[in-house]
Amino acid sequence: MKGIAFAGLGLALACLASPALVQTPPQPTGQGNAVPDQTLRGTLGRADYEHYREIPFTLPAGVTRLTIEFSYGGKEQHSVIDLGLADPQHFRGWSGGTRDRMTLSAEDATPGYLRGPLPAGEWHLILGAPNIREGATAPFEARIYIERAPMVTSFADAPLNAAPGWYRGDLHMHSGNSDGKCLSQKGEKVPCPVYRTVEAAAKRGLDFIALTDHNTTAHYDALRALQGAFDRLLLIPGREVTTFYGHSNVFGPTAFLDFRMTAPNYAQAAKWMDEVKREGGIVSLNHAGAPSGEICMGCGWRLDDLPAGAVQAIEVVNGGTMAETKSAESPLQGFALWQKLLNAGQHVTAIGGSDNHNADLPSDEPGAIGTPTTVVFMRELAVQGFIDGVRAGRAFVDVYGVKGRFLDISATNGEAKAVMGGTLQVRTGERIRLTAEVKGASGGTIQPIVDGEPNPAFRRVIQRDGAIALTSWIADPGRHWVRADVRDAAGRLILVGNPIYIEVGK
Ligand SMILES: [Zn+2]
Ligand SMILES: [Zn+2]
Repeated sequence: MKGIAFAGLGLALACLASPALVQTPPQPTGQGNAVPDQTLRGTLGRADYEHYREIPFTLPAGVTRLTIEFSYGGKEQHSVIDLGLADPQHFRGWSGGTRDRMTLSAEDATPGYLRGPLPAGEWHLILGAPNIREGATAPFEARIYIERAPMVTSFADAPLNAAPGWYRGDLHMHSGNSDGKCLSQKGEKVPCPVYRTVEAAAKRGLDFIALTDHNTTAHYDALRALQGAFDRLLLIPGREVTTFYGHSNVFGPTAFLDFRMTAPNYAQAAKWMDEVKREGGIVSLNHAGAPSGEICMGCGWRLDDLPAGAVQAIEVVNGGTMAETKSAESPLQGFALWQKLLNAGQHVTAIGGSDNHNADLPSDEPGAIGTPTTVVFMRELAVQGFIDGVRAGRAFVDVYGVKGRFLDISATNGEAKAVMGGTLQVRTGERIRLTAEVKGASGGTIQPIVDGEPNPAFRRVIQRDGAIALTSWIADPGRHWVRADVRDAAGRLILVGNPIYIEVGK
């Protein structure tokens, strides 16, 4: 047998010729995972008691993720099967009797298993039998699923909340896997372990976060380990693609992206942006108005040839920039580029991110985890629900992350209606009515913005929570967009709404 010969496990080839062992050949694709690519079946008996059995299976080349579900019978007779795994060269983990599902990729693995490349060749399930009584049997089944293409990854096996709704989160933060720091026991600033960021986000009451360390994929394994214990806080795979010509967050995929751009043009960005698109993820431009050069190397966005559809979101409010400039709307934020993209006819969703580099930062400071918060309408609290929600554009930025603050707008033309992110189609000369739903901002004002212009005549004082009729106008030809911002009584920007797109036909 080619294979594993790690100490302590005397694995006998004879055991492999077990009765009733079925191996179905590998299928060309494991995407979707409804049907296993291979199913291994067999039965352990008393002869296996306090012994190990090695069940071989073949992994083809090019596998990006291996997922195994394991089940066995005979439990009513107190039969117990322990489970482990070996690749053609190395031991890859052991879960004893505690798990019935494990997944491994180059970037992350179920706790107890080792992430890493998934080499082609003969792998082995390692079965141990700590208990099988005289006369008892334990029929087992292992369902093996393989993925051959990198794709959107979820660290949770199921949605954290199946209900559609508005979910609150932070989409930009750093751990010690890049430049995030926090205090050690002795009070030293040390690279901050991932759990401290996740704990701080849970304490802030957020529903989701994306930890976005710079270029690396090293934080995903810790996130998978933490997701199980944080079953109210969706951990979205994220990273900050950090180039010499701008920074962007990528949400969804976990496989390596080649960030090494050597010129500020789309031809260079395409090598990672196109990959994100293929894998079903989304790209968001970060702190786009930040300076570039020695003052902040690579920070400002310097590509001006982005085709429509290359980016789905833009970080209009960055917490770090807020802390430095004492403003959520300084020119160093992302508003100017956002407006430029919208005026060019692109549909780009505004989001916010704290850009937290210190999990200990008190929650009332800009740049603390959750300041700002992005609020997204999702059909369920899951990674795909988040991605679809941001793409749909039904989202707003809550600049100070105050739970209970809310903003949505709708535009109607007779029976036709569109909400934030949607498109309203009207004919020239028809009337468009704009209505807002605002909460937690009484005493403040709401300002509609049409094609980038905040018309003061449309501004309304917010008397109470609920619906506000904002304005109406007669459609003129062309493509338009309308959105709304909310300020508090002191004039501070507190809520940033996303556009409704208006298409006016003849
Ligand atoms: Zn950055
Ligand atoms: Zn950052």
